[in-house]
Amino acid sequence: RQPIVAIDGPAGAGKSTVARRVAKQLGLMYLDTGAMYRAITWLVQEKGISFDDEPAIAEVVSRAKIEFIDTSEDPAIPTQVWVDGCNVTEAIRTQAVTANVSQVSSLKSVRLHLVKQQQQFGERGGIVAEGRDIGTHVFPNAELKIFLTASVSERARRRQQDLIKSGEEGITLSLLEGQIAQRDRLDSTRKISPLTKAENAIEIDTDHQTIDEVIGEIVKHYAT
Ligand code: C5P
Repeated sequence: RQPIVAIDGPAGAGKSTVARRVAKQLGLMYLDTGAMYRAITWLVQEKGISFDDEPAIAEVVSRAKIEFIDTSEDPAIPTQVWVDGCNVTEAIRTQAVTANVSQVSSLKSVRLHLVKQQQQFGERGGIVAEGRDIGTHVFPNAELKIFLTASVSERARRRQQDLIKSGEEGITLSLLEGQIAQRDRLDSTRKISPLTKAENAIEIDTDHQTIDEVIGEIVKHYAT
């Protein structure tokens, strides 16, 4: 199979931007696994199912059809995310989904299902996959594993910029810092495949680096 690049790290460390652009530069496919957990969270919410109702959520995830559609070669234009025929590209980035996604993603049935789909997507390799457990569980044999980090304050600042761009203004930095810290806590303490750095992953702290520098570093590692 073709090579696999795994990019993991906490919320807001810059994974999406970096992973998409690395994929474009290297001519590989791109897989945003966080978008899949978000799409299921959106669907559960849309159906009015309680986030505590695991059997009902298991049913939802087993029937859901998640699709990614690339509408442009331009890495600045996000890949569209569709679930059961609805374009949820924007809806999955709202505060409502973000606030509940860690609870949904901690469910065994949800992870079993989505991890299987992710592995099928990368069966032949040739992909850059980003998430929390790519290097540890989804593709433990990935040729290159990157763990991106940044301080909570820097990640909150970036998230605020994204929200402003999508029209959600007036959300304070301290609120976002609290949410990010809470998501870090839930994602790294859950029982099944918690967020941790794979043993052989290269850690890159993005606090004082531009996106181009981070991408350059990853591409250099890929080439060697
Ligand atoms: O990367 P993003 O912030 O979009 O991920 C949303 C959430 O999905 C994470 O906070 C985490 O709870 C979950 N997730 C996960 N495993 C992955 C990717 C995301 O549990 N591989």
